[in-house]
Amino acid sequence: MSSNPPDLRPDLAPKPRMSDPARPGQPTIGMVSLGCPKALVDSERILTRLRAEGYAISPDYTGAEAVIVNTCGFLDSAKAESLEAIGEALAENGRVIVTGCLGAEEDYIRGTHPSVLAVTGPHQYEQVLDAVHAAVPPAPDPYIDLLPASGVSLTPRHYSYLKISEGCNHKCKFCIIPDMRGRLASRPAHAVLREAEKLVEAGVKELLVISQDTSAYGVDIKHAEANGHRAHITDLARDLGGLGAWVRLHYVYPYPHVRQLIPLMAEGLILPYLDIPFQHAHPDTLRRMARPAAAAKTLDEIAAWRRDCPDITLRSTFIVGYPGETEAEFQTLLDWMDEAQLDRVGCFQYENVDGARSNTLPDHVPDEVKQDRWNRFMEKAQAISEAKLAAKVGTRMEVIVDDIDEDGIATCRTKADAPEIDGNLFIDEGTEGLRVGQIVTVEVDEAGEYDLWGGVV
Ligand code: SF4
Repeated sequence: MSSNPPDLRPDLAPKPRMSDPARPGQPTIGMVSLGCPKALVDSERILTRLRAEGYAISPDYTGAEAVIVNTCGFLDSAKAESLEAIGEALAENGRVIVTGCLGAEEDYIRGTHPSVLAVTGPHQYEQVLDAVHAAVPPAPDPYIDLLPASGVSLTPRHYSYLKISEGCNHKCKFCIIPDMRGRLASRPAHAVLREAEKLVEAGVKELLVISQDTSAYGVDIKHAEANGHRAHITDLARDLGGLGAWVRLHYVYPYPHVRQLIPLMAEGLILPYLDIPFQHAHPDTLRRMARPAAAAKTLDEIAAWRRDCPDITLRSTFIVGYPGETEAEFQTLLDWMDEAQLDRVGCFQYENVDGARSNTLPDHVPDEVKQDRWNRFMEKAQAISEAKLAAKVGTRMEVIVDDIDEDGIATCRTKADAPEIDGNLFIDEGTEGLRVGQIVTVEVDEAGEYDLWGGVV
């Protein structure tokens, strides 16, 4: 028998943890995991997914709006313990979703506990998430959640988010994450690796490393080494790269040591993909954001990354219409984009967020100016994307199959496409024999603004 850590067990840890507090209105779920290590993988995936969707995980029954009990049904004693745990969760909370091995025996469970909200079997984590969404609807917050609102659709089994830390030590003026989520708190490297290994053993082909500040990983625990694994992003990326799955790094803050990751990409250990939010390019705007202001050096850095790993895909996000942004500052951003030629770009028009320090800055930009700048920025970003994708026509590349619809059209992603935020490669014919989660080589025969089309070779 194994279980999730005591500080995440409402039945074992009656006192609320001080870290990871729920924000006002944040949907909150409790989890009791009683199963074997295989069941624990499902529990971890469910918890990771729920956190990424914006749920808080409660260590006590009263703080939770529903409780998931991941049961074991292997031995009679384990069944009895599972029924007892369900009973305790019902008594303490009242809203209980049952999953795990004993979930295969729904009548047996409902015979004792007819009021449980849902019963699902082992490894049916998608159904558990469905039941959670039905019982406690997600409340996405675009300012602090790690996944886009569309991300509440279920993660296919062949990729998985892997959360390596919580919180952030920076103080970007437009951002309330440090206030909501606290300072950086990294998971020990061996715990992250253990979760990753189990995910890969369970069939996951792509690990999406997420946190608020991925490149700062381990700073708070002084890059401690435990069980032979050092808590530093370069070491963690190398260790994860050894598991044989695609490893994609998200939310990499532009620190100088990011360049140490590039050789790992060039070697093929991790995907040649860097999701690195630059937010702006004008030094004065960046200073008003309280972000690193050396945008010219960033161009040199990008050139060096491309020299060392020519296949690298760079994704970034930007804010236009930040308070005080002049037309000249915005033009600098456009000129910078001409030079940087980023592959993937997201852009937000600045908005005040309750509690953000940028709200009180002078010279807020009128809405129509923000919209105009957003249009001009996106026009440029789209033209760059289109040209870059057009250059891929005729080349061969590996893709991962995400979906095959009833007409036989396969929706895939290249190494340059993160799920839910980037483009796709579609295969319109010859998909018989392809499986979801399979990695195949295709030849690209057509390109659009953000997507590609190709055929299996
Ligand atoms: S680095 Fe990211 S999470 Fe941290 S304060 Fe800045 S924007 Fe917020």
